[in-house]
Amino acid sequence: MRTVAIFRRELRLTDNPLLQDAERDEWIPVFFLDEYNQQEHGNNLRALFFHALRQLRNGIESVGGQLYVVPLEQQERFLDIARPDEVRFCEDVEPHSRERDEHLKRLLQRKGIRYRVLRDSLLSPIPEATYPSFTQFYKRHFTQHVQPEPPIPMPSRLHTPTLDVPVVAIPEVNTQPASGWYATEAEVQAKWQRFVATTLSRYGSLRNLPAEDGVSRMSPYIRCGIISLRQMLREAWGVSEQFVKELAWRDFYSHLLYHHPETVDMELRPEWRSFPWRQDEEQFERWAKGQTGIPLVDAGMRQLLCEGWMHNRTRMVVASYLTKHLLIDWRWGERWFYRHLVDADLAQNVGNWQWTAGCGADALPYFRIFNPVLQAQKFDPNADYIRRYVPELRNATNELLSDLQGLHRAFPDYPPPVVHPEEGRKRFLQVAQRFFGDSAQEKLPFDHE
Ligand SMILES: Cc1cc2nc3c(=O)[nH]c(=O)nc-3n(C[C@H](O)[C@H](O)[C@H](O)COP(=O)(O)OP(=O)(O)OC[C@H]3O[C@@H](n4cnc5c(N)ncnc54)[C@H](O)[C@@H]3O)c2cc1C
Repeated sequence: MRTVAIFRRELRLTDNPLLQDAERDEWIPVFFLDEYNQQEHGNNLRALFFHALRQLRNGIESVGGQLYVVPLEQQERFLDIARPDEVRFCEDVEPHSRERDEHLKRLLQRKGIRYRVLRDSLLSPIPEATYPSFTQFYKRHFTQHVQPEPPIPMPSRLHTPTLDVPVVAIPEVNTQPASGWYATEAEVQAKWQRFVATTLSRYGSLRNLPAEDGVSRMSPYIRCGIISLRQMLREAWGVSEQFVKELAWRDFYSHLLYHHPETVDMELRPEWRSFPWRQDEEQFERWAKGQTGIPLVDAGMRQLLCEGWMHNRTRMVVASYLTKHLLIDWRWGERWFYRHLVDADLAQNVGNWQWTAGCGADALPYFRIFNPVLQAQKFDPNADYIRRYVPELRNATNELLSDLQGLHRAFPDYPPPVVHPEEGRKRFLQVAQRFFGDSAQEKLPFDHE
C-alpha cells in the first residue's frame, strides 16, 4: 500500500500516529508550505518550527525515507503524481486549518482517495459542545476519555519512492530569542526526562514561582510537536495531577476554539462585546517594551522580548495589567504575544487572554484583579526574577521594589508607573460597573490560580 502522511505540527519520529505501521508501506511524508502561516506567525515560532522541520527531514532520511516539502498551491499536483491509496493527516482546531482540511477532504473524495484523520495535538476527543467551566470539562470529559496509552513504535526502516514533484527549500529563519530553544528531538527528550526526574513530583508547589526552575518549558516543543503529549501524560500520570490538569487546560482551550472560531477576535461572552477598551498606543508601547514602571510586569515583558517565552504566572500578571489597569483592548496584547512567543498557539493564546481579561470561558470575574505588587511579593519574594530581567533594579532592596514612587526616585533610569495599580484598579471597576450595571457578572468558579 502507498500512504501519503501530511506533516503539519507533529514534527517528530517518536510516538507519532502518522508513522503507525509506516515500515510496512510505501510511505511518502510531505509538508505543504502554506503562505498564510508564513504571514501570520511571528519569526520566533517560525525559526523553531523550521529548525524542527529540518531535524525531522534528517531523521526520516536516517532511516531511509525522504520528506517532500511542497508549496500548498501544488497540493493537488503532488497527489496526482504520488497516487496514494491512503492519505493521513492530524486534526487541527484553528479556523484557517479547518478550512484547509475541508478543502483537502473534498479534493480526496473527488479523486476517490481514502483518508484518515488522526489525533495528535489534543489528548481528548473534541466534545459535541463546550463545557461551561474547566472543572466540569475535566471531570466529565477529560478524565472519562484520557488514559495513559502505550507509545507508537518508531519505524526502523522507511521506504519512500522517488517522485518528480515541485519541491521548495525549507525557509531559513533565525532569531536571537529562538536560538535559545533550537533543539533536536533527542535534546528535547533529555530536557523532559530531567524535568521528570528532578521536578515533576514538586510541580504543584513550584509552578507559580517564576524565578525557580519549576515548570517544564515544553510549550514551544509541544507547539511544534517535537514531543508527544501522550508521552508527557503517560509519564506525569500518578506523579503530578496538577501537571495533568495543565495539559487538560490545553485541550479545554483547543476545544473552545473549535466550537467558537469567532473568539479569535471577539469576546466569548456576548455581554463584553462592546466593552469600552482604550486604544492608547503610547501606553501600549510602554507595556510591550517592558517600561511600565511596575517591576514584575516589566520583568515579564522583557523576558518575552529576550527569550520569546514567559512564565505562566507573569503572563497572567502582564495580561491583567494591560487589560485591567491600562484598560487596553485584550486583542492588542494577544497579537503582541502571538507575534513574539516561540510557543504561540492561537487557541491557547486567545483562550488565556480572554480568561485573564474576564471575557472568556470560566474567566476571572471582572472584580478579581491581580495586584502586580502583591503578586511579586507572593510569587517572587526575593525579587530574583525581577532582578534577572530588569538589571537597572539589581541593587534595589525588596522594600523599595514595593514602593513604586520611591523606586523611581531612587533609580531615575527606571520609569515611574504608567498607571499606579491602585488608581488603575479603581478606574477599571468604575468603568466596568458603569458598563455592566447592576447585572454585574455572577461569581464564577475560580479554579485557575
Ligand atoms: C495571557 C496568556 C497567554 C498564553 N499564550 C499561550 C500560547 O500562545 N501558547 C501556549 O502554549 N500557552 C500559552 N499560555 C499558557 C501558559 O502560560 C503556557 O502554556 C506555559 O507557561 C508554558 O510553559 P511550560 O511549558 O513550562 O508549562 P508547564 O507549567 O510545564 O505546563 C505543561 C504544559 O501544560 C500546558 N499549560 C500550562 N498552563 C497552561 C494554560 N494556562 N493554558 C493552556 N495550557 C497550559 C502547556 O501545554 C504546557 O507546556 C498563555 C497563558 C497566558 C496567561
